[in-house]
Amino acid sequence: MKAPNFRKEAAVFSFFFCLFAVCQTFPTPADRASLIKLEQFQFTGGNLLSTEKELQVNCILKRIKAKEIMEGMKTGKFAPAMHFFRAKELIEQSPVFKIIQMMPKGAGLHLHEYALLNVDWLVKNATYLPNCYICFTPVGGVQFHYFNRNQQKKMVNCSEWVLLEQYRNQIQNVTEFDNSLMRNLTLITENPEEAYQSQNIIWHRFSDAFAAASSLISYAPVFKTYFYEALKEFYHDNVQYIEIRALLLPVYELDGTLHNKSWSIMAYQEVSRQFKNDNPDFMGTKVIFSVHRKLNNAEMKIAVHEAMELYSKFPETMAGFDMVGHEDAGHPLWYFKNELLIPAKLGVKLPYFFHAGETDWEGLHVDENILDALLLNTSRIGHGYSINKRLAAKQLSKKLEVAIEVCPISNQLQCYVCPDES
Ligand SMILES: [Zn+2]
Repeated sequence: MKAPNFRKEAAVFSFFFCLFAVCQTFPTPADRASLIKLEQFQFTGGNLLSTEKELQVNCILKRIKAKEIMEGMKTGKFAPAMHFFRAKELIEQSPVFKIIQMMPKGAGLHLHEYALLNVDWLVKNATYLPNCYICFTPVGGVQFHYFNRNQQKKMVNCSEWVLLEQYRNQIQNVTEFDNSLMRNLTLITENPEEAYQSQNIIWHRFSDAFAAASSLISYAPVFKTYFYEALKEFYHDNVQYIEIRALLLPVYELDGTLHNKSWSIMAYQEVSRQFKNDNPDFMGTKVIFSVHRKLNNAEMKIAVHEAMELYSKFPETMAGFDMVGHEDAGHPLWYFKNELLIPAKLGVKLPYFFHAGETDWEGLHVDENILDALLLNTSRIGHGYSINKRLAAKQLSKKLEVAIEVCPISNQLQCYVCPDES
């Protein structure tokens, strides 16, 4: 990409100033072409000038894209207009997607520790490891745990632990059973509109799926392999660097030994270094220690102190601190202002990467989070869906160069934007 041509930009703007403000007249085809050009200039990246080769690639891409649009018009099935769950298969077959998949992405900056890798791997590998037990919860979910055979198997909400190896030997259709496990570990369903009629229901399912996945991933031998496999998947998609929001919950060994947060960060560090050794053009991983936004003030104070400690202990791997969980149902950021200002008061560095504005409410505490995130000196904003309703936040984030981590699929899944029902 070359530097923008500011002279050209100024000429286009002055032309439209003349057209609309001073010399209103009948529009000509040239006026129309200039207006379209002005609009293109205002798109993301519109002020960058492409090189000859980039223009050639763009031509090819646009041709393939036009073909897909025509196909969508013909069949009535156009992936960008569909619910992601129905569109996923179409997207995976799409030549445009295949080109995008090959393109260098830079960084994956909004990832969560228990949703890094395709769940197929968890079901086909982690649940087939020896000593993996399953518990069917009263609400139709599943939990997993690895136990020594003669170990006491007591867990909340689980009356009976069954050794998966034995269970699979007893059932007739193992494939169907494994598919049901995958459904427990994701939100994918054939009728999302019916299954997820409110954001509360979606968030409940989210937590259940995360809890089921974390019960597998928190087993030390799975923890490291899972992360290495996840890095492989990102690398395959040409992502060069990732940052993970991590609760850093205890990781356990078969003998019941529990590892602390430092162990988990060191494990991420070790696996990431190993992966970088194996793939020298991969740039690495950082961790954003995150806690649930339902904590009380005293718990948040402890968490902030822990985060400061981890940040000074692992400056290469710890990126900073954040809060996770359903924003509408949790405490607003301002509720924790005293705790979040502790590092500044102590003169200790702790960058923030707040989830904020992940809501479609307007005029409540929850959509003020986006303003408070900026006031509390956030480095980036997670989701930021409500930013278009908060003009001051939009301007300030631009001025402070605070990037927004946008996830259109998440916005769709949570019904902030709804696709058609095709
Ligand atoms: Zn998130």
